[in-house]
Amino acid sequence: MLTNPLIELNSNENSLGMADSAKKAVIDALDIGFRYPDDQRAALITKVAKINDVTESQISLGSGSSENIRTVVQMLQNKALREGRNFQVIVPHPTFAYAELYATSINVPVVKVALMPESYSFDLQNMQKVADDFDGISLFYLCNPNNPTATITDTDELKAWVGTAPDHHYFLLDEAYSEYVTDPSFESGITWIREQRSDNIIVVRTFSKLCALAGMRVGYAVASPQMITELEAFISVDNTNLSGAVAAIATLDDEAFLALSLHTANQSRQLVEQTLDELGLRYLPSQASFIFHEIKGDVQTYIDRMCDHGIAVGREFAPITGFNRLTLGRADEMAVFVEVLKSFREKGWV
Ligand code: PLP
Repeated sequence: MLTNPLIELNSNENSLGMADSAKKAVIDALDIGFRYPDDQRAALITKVAKINDVTESQISLGSGSSENIRTVVQMLQNKALREGRNFQVIVPHPTFAYAELYATSINVPVVKVALMPESYSFDLQNMQKVADDFDGISLFYLCNPNNPTATITDTDELKAWVGTAPDHHYFLLDEAYSEYVTDPSFESGITWIREQRSDNIIVVRTFSKLCALAGMRVGYAVASPQMITELEAFISVDNTNLSGAVAAIATLDDEAFLALSLHTANQSRQLVEQTLDELGLRYLPSQASFIFHEIKGDVQTYIDRMCDHGIAVGREFAPITGFNRLTLGRADEMAVFVEVLKSFREKGWV
């Protein structure tokens, strides 16, 4: 077994590790590893469609949701080219970078709209204005809960916007962390797809977070059947491999593991929030498996010092200064983190 001396609270991985049921499913599948994964992919699509109460024709699997994000950008770029129209991607700033990354790689302009001061919520009005002022197709990438802030966007505002947007405004709702949301006002964009509130919504989900399968690379997109057909033109054929598919199915069936995974994040969040309260360090209301919190003093120095103490603690996200993103790990990992953070306070470092 590989050992890593660092406690890794920096990449929003789930340090519980894969469910035993998922490991067993992968081992059991080795005997058929020489076959293409059609049956396992089909079984996963059936399961994912059922869980989300949509049809199988509304699901596109990805090699992680990263691939789904890429296909949305490519599909709309292709549509714009076909129709002789301009295309832009609008993102809040900061947010998860992949929509911007994939757009930039194919020369699609990206407009970044700064988060609101203090609350660090999305500036929906300004984002909307950027699209209204643009002659062409706009794609809004909205990560809900957002990464790095771990906060959700007001459901009523988002729902009203999505429901009244014109046909050439598309919404890519990245719900990688939606399983962790405790705020009862949160509504998944999948509900709006089901209600056909707009044909221009694509929701992406991942098995990398709650299901602890980041290395197995499984994600999916949910959208209208027509949009899924258009997206599928840009996926790699057989993108979700056999191991990933069987591991995902086993984990979805493993209610005890999913409950433990959620419980672990909730417990760790509670401990970290309590400590931050004690130390008078501000944090945003976390609805995800990580927390965005204040650090008094230079954040890079804090990160380096944590690293010296065996803990990797994420990073600062420009243009926001004085805050660090911390992944919520296992209870034993968080206990060490809290002890070290408190010792930093005694030294006057945070
Ligand atoms: N979306 C968000 C908001 C993320 O934070 C991440 C990973 O950190 C991803 C997508 C990528 O997930 P995947 O592993 O499914 O590609």
